[in-house]
Amino acid sequence: MILPPATLGLLGGGQLGRYFTVSARTMGYRVWVLDPDPDSPAGRLADRHLRAGFDDPDALAELAAHAAVVTCEFENVPAASAEWLAGRVLLRPDPRALAIAQDRLAEKRFLEDAGVAVAPWLPVEDIAAARGAAPDWKLPAILKTARLGYDGKGQLPVRTREGVARAFSQLGEVPCVLEQRLELDREVSVVLARAPDGGCRCFPVTENEHRGGILHLSRVPARVSGEIRVQAEAVAQHIAERLDYHGVLTVEFFLSGSGRLLVNEIAPRPHNSGHYTLDAVTVSQFEQQVRAVCGLALAPAELVAPAAMLNLLGDLWPVGASMPDFSRLLSHSRTRLHLYGKPAARPGRKMGHVNTLGAPGEADASRPARLAEGLWAELRGAAAGGTANG
Ligand code: ATP
Ligand code: MG
Repeated sequence: MILPPATLGLLGGGQLGRYFTVSARTMGYRVWVLDPDPDSPAGRLADRHLRAGFDDPDALAELAAHAAVVTCEFENVPAASAEWLAGRVLLRPDPRALAIAQDRLAEKRFLEDAGVAVAPWLPVEDIAAARGAAPDWKLPAILKTARLGYDGKGQLPVRTREGVARAFSQLGEVPCVLEQRLELDREVSVVLARAPDGGCRCFPVTENEHRGGILHLSRVPARVSGEIRVQAEAVAQHIAERLDYHGVLTVEFFLSGSGRLLVNEIAPRPHNSGHYTLDAVTVSQFEQQVRAVCGLALAPAELVAPAAMLNLLGDLWPVGASMPDFSRLLSHSRTRLHLYGKPAARPGRKMGHVNTLGAPGEADASRPARLAEGLWAELRGAAAGGTANG
């Protein structure tokens, strides 16, 4: 076990890292964050912020020299840095898990090898493959860059076979995955923690609604059958076991119109869809991450009350204002506001989120979800300079 006051190293300094930092420091650990952004949300709360790139040899050496264990809140750590660190300090999750999660081609191949169902797809690694793409499934599809996509970035719709090469060029002729566009019934995710001794705990299955490729609202419990819930948890655990994973892992799923559960992608870290755990579960995904990477006992992850989580994107910031008017939101007793301390709002940028809570024993998340949507409409109306729905 790694015990306080050991130093925990964190690759990435975004909002996910900010909550890891708070959880770890609450428990008496020290946290060193590596992130080039001087305003990084986690760096601001860390014991030490190494303001350097993820391939900076001096910063990596400092981290390796001081940290008892290094983890990540961001999957795009260069493979060479991950390998270098893993040779000198405990890195949880390990470089293999990072390499798979940061490359959609590697990820699809790994998932298929593991016997996990995914959407029909084709590798498109060069222009010849793009020109000759002949899927044995029906278009339309989405061309996704294999690396560095997030929040729907690095993706283009493709309607015809000729369109594949066009989209490939538009994406910069980098290796891609061509994936069939599915009629989705729902999207769900499972966040889990797996400890170095192999013990595993899943957080409740979460239902996720995206808008414009970005997560908008999560609700728990998800509106899926008990069978789907059990299946999603089993698949997520199977993936964690195949990776011999240590830390917090997220598995995003599609539920197709025909009722099939398919894995969309995996993330080797806590997840936006797990933010409700900060207020509605007996342990947050971030404390569980500390516990998993330090080899402590994993805490039971039980839902205290139905909940919804609504992302507060920069779109909700009135032009020129440093902050939306949160007085209505904060006048509700069942809302919990979270802001990440980012200095500048931009459309699509995740500035914070609000968790809305039902009462313990309430059957479903329809009330908290309605409350969250109502608050969103008001903020949206105010940002647009009019009234809600105006
Ligand atoms: P994030 O960072 O939010 O996880 P991402 O950039 O990694 O996003 P994906 O998870 O691949 O991108 O896609 C974002 C969203 O776009 C999905 O959650 C889903 O709503 C939609 N989407 C992606 N692929 C498909 C598909 N094959 N069929 C239907 N919808 C899709
Ligand atoms: Mg995704």
